[in-house]
Amino acid sequence: MRNIMEDTPVSNFLQSILSEDLASGRVTEIVTRFPPEPNGYLHIGHAKSISVNFGLAKANGGRCNLRFDDTNPEKESQEYIEAIQADVRWLGYAWDGAVRYASSYFQQLYEWAVYLVQQGDAYVCDLSADEARQYRGTLTAPGRNSPKRTRTVAENLDLLARMKAGEFEEGSRVLRAKIDMSSPNMNMRDPILYRIRKVAHHQTGSHWVIYPTYDFAHGQEDAIEGITHSICTLEFEDHRPLYDWFIEHLPVPSRPRQYEFGRLNASFTVTSKRKLKQLVDAGVVTGWDDPRMPTISGMRRRGYTPAAIRKFCDMIGTTRSDGVVDVAMLEFAIREDLNDNAVRGLCVLDPLKVVLTDYPQDKVEELSAPGHPSRSDLGARVLPFTRELYIDREDFREEANKKYKRLVLGKRVRLRHAYVIEADAVVRDEQGNITEIHAHTIPDTLGRDPEDGGKPKGVIHWVSVSRGKQAQVRLYERLFNHEAPDKGDNAFMDHINPNSLKVIMSAWIEPSLAGARPEQSFQFEREGYFVADRYDHSPDQPVFNRTIGLRDSWNES
Ligand code: ATP
Ligand code: MG
Repeated sequence: MRNIMEDTPVSNFLQSILSEDLASGRVTEIVTRFPPEPNGYLHIGHAKSISVNFGLAKANGGRCNLRFDDTNPEKESQEYIEAIQADVRWLGYAWDGAVRYASSYFQQLYEWAVYLVQQGDAYVCDLSADEARQYRGTLTAPGRNSPKRTRTVAENLDLLARMKAGEFEEGSRVLRAKIDMSSPNMNMRDPILYRIRKVAHHQTGSHWVIYPTYDFAHGQEDAIEGITHSICTLEFEDHRPLYDWFIEHLPVPSRPRQYEFGRLNASFTVTSKRKLKQLVDAGVVTGWDDPRMPTISGMRRRGYTPAAIRKFCDMIGTTRSDGVVDVAMLEFAIREDLNDNAVRGLCVLDPLKVVLTDYPQDKVEELSAPGHPSRSDLGARVLPFTRELYIDREDFREEANKKYKRLVLGKRVRLRHAYVIEADAVVRDEQGNITEIHAHTIPDTLGRDPEDGGKPKGVIHWVSVSRGKQAQVRLYERLFNHEAPDKGDNAFMDHINPNSLKVIMSAWIEPSLAGARPEQSFQFEREGYFVADRYDHSPDQPVFNRTIGLRDSWNES
């Protein structure tokens, strides 16, 4: 396979902008921010934004703030605030100074709203939502001025103060900027700055009953924090004239600029907090951090690594267009990282007993296997070899053609890191199912071929019955069986893969695996990459989650 990871530098037009701004002296330091709204857990798309904002700041010796854009109290919560911080840290980034909140600037924003009113640049409007829609016009027809647009400054100041004091009903009045109702850009048609919302806020309690809109808040927050490059996704491109309008019309302490890049969308994946929340609320998954979720915490629990996620974000580049990335690229990055770094282990997922009839009952040989085939720093494991072993049911057949390179009755196979054995007989239960295989070892075959020339056809994995341990193994597949589950509004709920989770209660693991640290990754030889579950794994009750198979089986026909 072509190694995508080693391709030459990916396009990043943002770096060019930063380099020019530093070279020309427009800025002396790069200051960016990552501004999540705490209304859900972060997903792979946010990972891209994090890697862009923190990554660019770091690469240019600058700083990046973490700012919660908490202007919609209804949908926000402390749980999300904490989860988001944990996710950013886990990805390996550090924000500058303390965590920031849009809500800590509410007083300043309000004063700036008053300032706009005083300048004649904002007014209180009483149109109902329906009326406002009619006055707004359409993409092809200009809007009309609100009848309230001509209110005097004094009247507007009075009404705004009373909005703030809670005198009016929700939805009865808004504060709007006075810009241009015939602008071809709908965002410039007297946009709303403040709306009445009589709900408590997770940070400010019941102090405020009016809340600023995203548009009125965002750029001003950037200015307060001295952000030089306010990087966001393309859907905000049409908001940029408004962003600039506020910066020009307000006495803000700095002049940030907004830049947009294409959102990350991935095949077989949903990247919308709203839709992910629906999966959680409907019980399709066990929570935001279910290993099948494309959330950062879900990927973490699945065994994806921060390094692989960062690499993926670099690999796909940053462009000025929205596109859909093949999720196989992310999986490729994970596989490559785990192949390089995961300790090896033997785990039998579907145990079938093999009795080595020539091997003494109580004998235990402590064989040794490397922690990793090419990294001596990952040490060695002890593999106890005993008379009774488990192999995977799939690795035995009574008869098979030459293509089957596993154990066949009357034939030989090598046990990984151990002896060559030959199968002699099968034992069956009353229904005729094979319950046991009788076999014998071929002497002197540790690390070498049999002397009699009867070379084994293949290598299979195994675990000692008496020295191995039982484990629960969770086999995860993609959550969606449709390439574009996100197309259409609720269609994604119809594309859930019914086989996205299979739980194996009694897999058998080599003893060293029981000592796994939670979140430690392994390659189970011949099976794939697995991680000890972050919450449920313990040495007494080992639990592993499959991160990903050894190869991309989805694209194989
Ligand atoms: P969602 O639609 O999932 O709610 P959002 O854009 O509303 O996403 P925010 O919390 O407002 O989520 O986003 C924080 C930052 O992450 C924003 O700058 C946003 O542009 C960026 N971001 C969100 N989704 C993506 C994505 N798919 N690709 C790149 N950046 C993204
Ligand atoms: Mg949002």
